Amino acid sequence: MSFTFDNQRPTATVVRSLHPLVIERPRSPVHIHSYGGETPFFEGLGQGRLMATRCDNPACTEAGAAGYLFCPPRVHCPDCLERMTWVDITDGPARTAKVHTHICVLHPGAFNRLPTPSKLISVEMEGVITTLMSHMRVGVPVIGMELEPVFNTSSPTFTILDLSWRQRRAR
Ligand SMILES: [Zn+2]
Repeated sequence: MSFTFDNQRPTATVVRSLHPLVIERPRSPVHIHSYGGETPFFEGLGQGRLMATRCDNPACTEAGAAGYLFCPPRVHCPDCLERMTWVDITDGPARTAKVHTHICVLHPGAFNRLPTPSKLISVEMEGVITTLMSHMRVGVPVIGMELEPVFNTSSPTFTILDLSWRQRRAR
């Protein structure tokens, strides 16, 4: 038995079986994602800025007392839970960036729009207590290699892919 259906339109219903009734109705999902408190980080990448956070709560005895920067940023302090302060580290700690470690992968997860194999790197920066997972589009990473950020400011995607790194050029 065959059926005649209008499946030229993307939302047309296709009957696969009458007994039991099984239909196919194609859908194109639209994903709506709020960045919430992380907005300054992703907005900053598209503007050529690397943003971190710091706990400025004078009563904080851990991260706040030490003045640690977090990048990737935390919206709230992991120690005292107070809202963190945004800090532009583009012209500061980002100028000290180095490859902490690296790996070459065929299935790079959140970076899955990159050409493969992808060169994923963990980036360390002076004064920043966290390492930042990112990638190199050009060059071959080596542990300790000095890096400089490359921002996608021409057509931002507002994803982590708006940031990559390359070997730091002599200044
Ligand atoms: Zn704190």
